[in-house]
Amino acid sequence: MRDELLELTSALKNQIIFEKESRNGLYSKLYIKKNSDVLSSLPVNAAANNRMVRVPSITLEDIGKELGDCKRCKLHKKRHHIVFGEGSPTSDLVFVGEAPGRDEDMQGKPFVGRAGKLLTDIIKAMGLERKDVYICNILKCRPPENRNPEPDEIAACEPFLIKQLEAIQPRVICAMGKFAAQTLLETGTAISTLRGRFHSYHGIKLMPTYHPAYLLRNQGAKKQVWQDVQMIMEELKQEA
Ligand code: URA
Repeated sequence: MRDELLELTSALKNQIIFEKESRNGLYSKLYIKKNSDVLSSLPVNAAANNRMVRVPSITLEDIGKELGDCKRCKLHKKRHHIVFGEGSPTSDLVFVGEAPGRDEDMQGKPFVGRAGKLLTDIIKAMGLERKDVYICNILKCRPPENRNPEPDEIAACEPFLIKQLEAIQPRVICAMGKFAAQTLLETGTAISTLRGRFHSYHGIKLMPTYHPAYLLRNQGAKKQVWQDVQMIMEELKQEA
């Protein structure tokens, strides 16, 4: 009884935080900040929470064309390929990582190296395949020596990610790693604190979890990732 009460209290607390974040509007914050013409037509939470049917105003193909042979930041100088993202254009679930690494830069596809193999296993463990979900990154070009993305690079690249999310209209975003989670949620809070509950990104449920590359070095964190992933699976099972 006591455990049930504690669980209920914790779930209620998380729901209140989620509602508060949605109302405070990361959505509107981003809209005002970036003045995205794409998201401006989106009623807050409508697509994600109430599942109102809304035809996306843009397609991934259009976004790819707009991105073109991008030279909007310095990363274009050393890249081999732009890593746009891949998977189902109508998926309920989008995984967002940090930036392409060497393998991804060579192949033009997200998460195809060692960390990518682990992500593929996680997706399979969820009963899905890579083609059922959409996988992309905060940055579309590889930072030299895999250094952290820089603010001007994020500023140039993030609008395209926002448009991708607008086109896909997922129900859940899984932000993998400190960098993706902190960038999307505009916070400096540690990933260990952020993970384990849903946050709101433009009214879309966002679950932060550890990056697969971190898992390769810290096997102990697999348990937590599995907990996060199970929450995502539960959420996706709910009636749309
Ligand atoms: N790490 C990332 O964050 N993204 C990739 O695509 C590959 C590795």
